[in-house]
Amino acid sequence: VAQEASNTNTCFNLTARQELRLECSNGRPVSIRLEEGIAEVFGTELNRGRAVSVTGQKVAVFTWFGCRVSVQGEPTVMYVADETPMASYLNVHQTLDQRREEAKRAGQGSAGSNGPVVVVVGPTDSGKSTLCRLLGNWAVRSGWQPTFVDLDVGQGTITVPGCLSAVPLEQPVDIEEGFIADLPLVFFFGHNSPGENPALFKSLADKLAALLQRRAAAADPRVAASGLIINTFGWVDGLGYELQKHIIQAFQCDVVLVVEQDRLYATLQQDLKVTCPRTNILKLAKSGGAVKREGDERRGAREQRIREYFYGTARTPLQPATQTIRATDLAVYRMGTGPRAPSTTLPVGSASLADPLRLQNLPPSLEQLQCLLAVSHAATPDQILNANVAGFVLVKDVDTARGTLTITAPAPGPLPGRYLIMGSLRSSME
Ligand code: ADP
Repeated sequence: VAQEASNTNTCFNLTARQELRLECSNGRPVSIRLEEGIAEVFGTELNRGRAVSVTGQKVAVFTWFGCRVSVQGEPTVMYVADETPMASYLNVHQTLDQRREEAKRAGQGSAGSNGPVVVVVGPTDSGKSTLCRLLGNWAVRSGWQPTFVDLDVGQGTITVPGCLSAVPLEQPVDIEEGFIADLPLVFFFGHNSPGENPALFKSLADKLAALLQRRAAAADPRVAASGLIINTFGWVDGLGYELQKHIIQAFQCDVVLVVEQDRLYATLQQDLKVTCPRTNILKLAKSGGAVKREGDERRGAREQRIREYFYGTARTPLQPATQTIRATDLAVYRMGTGPRAPSTTLPVGSASLADPLRLQNLPPSLEQLQCLLAVSHAATPDQILNANVAGFVLVKDVDTARGTLTITAPAPGPLPGRYLIMGSLRSSME
């Protein structure tokens, strides 16, 4: 929907280490422009004199040395903050950079000397994704090419929600477009909480970790020495905590950055002493700018990610295509048991149905309407649980009588595979 841009223009003079925080809603266009000095948005430098749209985003314009920045439009919230944890975050970056240098030196001539593997853990909305983005951007600007791994199935910054994915960072994250991932490595989990199928989550994390380790061994020394930056979900108690520990072991993390929570920090220190004695655990303060999002805002953000997958963004729109396919030309599978039935309602002896890694072939049914399906790279059904995915389609119509599925894909043409995976993610997108 085209919106009238507001003429309101506000100018800010920021002194060294201040940041201007903006919360912009989706409906009202807001753009920022660096007028003088040097400033960055989550580690991406602003170009002087060029307006950048931040509509729908919560961002901070930070300056190390002072700057003048103007804001066009009316953010819902706009203020200057003096206190930020940026200096401590930069410290972490510098330590990581040293490790990368060491790894590169050690790796010259001999393949397989890997750089630091960093994981960021902490509660929801503590600024984990933002910290990953800062560390990634700073690394790229120092000439490295780290791999960003996103395990936050609830939001997802690389592709649609519900995925475990990885992408090499070759350039700073685009402020307007986010991560531009041409060929991300994606495993489809299918749910927005790892608790929906913890065994599957672990299995996919293991697959992704192993694949990245193999790739690092074959990569050029600079890429291997750049290491990984891993983002996680905000569920840090009980089973969530067990999954966090599983991630740390699976990816053989060298550095664990704990944002905000003293308790999580203390528990990890105790537990990892035994299992991962060489892992460094650091506690970092949460930024006062990290904003709490309510449930409907998270749902809205998920829906937005799915929309962008199919329709692109305002600057780079896509032309999604809809086609009707005979159900015999494809096969829809579910990993795990599907919607959970209380065990007391299951017939005696049916416990095996609850196998979290069971693969189930689903006939066309109305249950698939508006479902987000992943297109697997598997060549045979038995590879589905081990294969990464090529992309996604959305089911728009199911004709059970004729046995056809009508699906929308981000581009026209035949699908890159015939095995589709269904989870619990749906979209109301038209
Ligand atoms: P998490 O990954 O822990 O859930 P995020 O990094 O996504 O948290 O941060 C939550 C929200 O706060 C995001 O919308 C992010 O853009 C915003 N945010 C984070 N840091 C700042 C900051 N310094 N100023 C303004 N907004 C911020």
